[in-house]
Amino acid sequence: QAGDDKIPVEQVLEMPANLAEAPRHANIPLPTALFQPRPNSNGLTFGDADELNGLAKAMRAAPVMDEVKPLTAAQAADAMARAAKAAPAWRDTPVATRSAALNRAADLLEAHRPALMATLAREAGKTIDDGIAEVREAVDFLRYYATEAQALCQSRTMPGPTGERNEWRARGRGVFVTVAPWNFPLAIFLGQTAAALSVGNAVVAKPAPQTPRIAAQAVALLHEAGVPKDALILAPGGVEVGQALIADPNLGGVAFTGSTATARSINRALAEREGAIVPLIAETGGVNAMIVDATALPEQVTRDVILSAFRSAGQRCSACRIVYLQEDVADGMLKMIEGAAATLRLGDPMDPATDVGPIIDADALERLKAHVANHKPRYEGEVPDGLFMPPTIIELDRDHKLTTEVFGPVLHVKRWKARDLDKVLDEIAATGFGLTFGLHSRVDATIAHVTARVGAGNVYVNRNQIGAIVGSQPFGGHGLSGTGPKAGGPLYLTRFVEEVVVSTDT
Ligand code: GLU
Repeated sequence: QAGDDKIPVEQVLEMPANLAEAPRHANIPLPTALFQPRPNSNGLTFGDADELNGLAKAMRAAPVMDEVKPLTAAQAADAMARAAKAAPAWRDTPVATRSAALNRAADLLEAHRPALMATLAREAGKTIDDGIAEVREAVDFLRYYATEAQALCQSRTMPGPTGERNEWRARGRGVFVTVAPWNFPLAIFLGQTAAALSVGNAVVAKPAPQTPRIAAQAVALLHEAGVPKDALILAPGGVEVGQALIADPNLGGVAFTGSTATARSINRALAEREGAIVPLIAETGGVNAMIVDATALPEQVTRDVILSAFRSAGQRCSACRIVYLQEDVADGMLKMIEGAAATLRLGDPMDPATDVGPIIDADALERLKAHVANHKPRYEGEVPDGLFMPPTIIELDRDHKLTTEVFGPVLHVKRWKARDLDKVLDEIAATGFGLTFGLHSRVDATIAHVTARVGAGNVYVNRNQIGAIVGSQPFGGHGLSGTGPKAGGPLYLTRFVEEVVVSTDT
């Protein structure tokens, strides 16, 4: 890691000047929204070696950010009060001006990419390819909502009888609290926040306790881009801060991404609080399955299973947790999957050769190890010292059902007989989750049957099942996986507004 000098967030903003001296590769343009990763031989990293080495060098040179202190409950209440005061002016700011600020923030994010990726690596263990993808997604969210808000926030004349004018308007609801996860501490943090801001809400944004620094950098960039300081306030902290924000009388809505259990407790707190009844947008986890039939192409299955289960150390809510292999081909596929898993390199996330970085913290690692200890894994990769969890494969017998999310690089496998396809679908449905789902088959009738029956919000056929792209693959699930609407999709912003109709007798 770079020198131990810790610098405050304001100075991180001076990074472009420092970067003038960084290798020319530090300024390669971000991939477009429709960028498709170019896998190398291990299927996990992309970009040519020069690009990656240049980025790695610039990341290591990036200053280490100072600590970001959690708020007290009183400071949280003060943040809500300040945001409530700032909300009307932000709501009345023309949508084009708000969108211009978000687009400017997107440009700033691109300019600061190595500094952001350095923080993502240090604070969240994000590898270089994960960092590239995450900054790209954050930029995509900013630009997408900046565009969508301009359409949604136009007033519309509704039809009506002669002598009456009916005007429909959508506007911000006041103060939105956004609660972000540690696994996409930049993209999801900014996605939720940008959505709320774009349609004219003030935002009090709570990052996960593990990842406040990257959030502080993001907020600083939004302020620099023109979002007023009190229209966007960072609220670092744990459960107490979250509880204080949600109980606050100024609350206008909550956008949450994290565990199903926390979504439930937010829901309960919202139900019990005094004051306005406010919307909750919750995006939670999944027990995501992939079904592979005997017609699937083994090389493709291998690549897609490895990416879906082990990229980002399996710390994505979209990740594949269980693959159902048709029994005739299961042994051959497993041999290939285990062979590919053995090539994955675990290590320093800032090393371009690293495929899989560390687990977020010691508690999470303990939970993963405890889960694996209860089963007899059929495959466990090599693991360096530190907070690392090896890619692990556990085969379950027919009667064993996976019903809880195991949030890490642990893939479960089950075999199925051709005549039992509907039973497999029933078993998947019975988990109650419905986030992502993968299918590998070359039979059109199977594809039609399975995709029509499966309950997941994001269904991927003959490809991997992670990495939803903003605007192309709106992301989010059903049931225990969340409320919708989908992030990065055409309905998302509608939950962040209130509607007004003004009817005038002419
Ligand atoms: N949108 C991400 C993906 O498609 C997952 C988001 C999450 O893990 O929370 O991989």
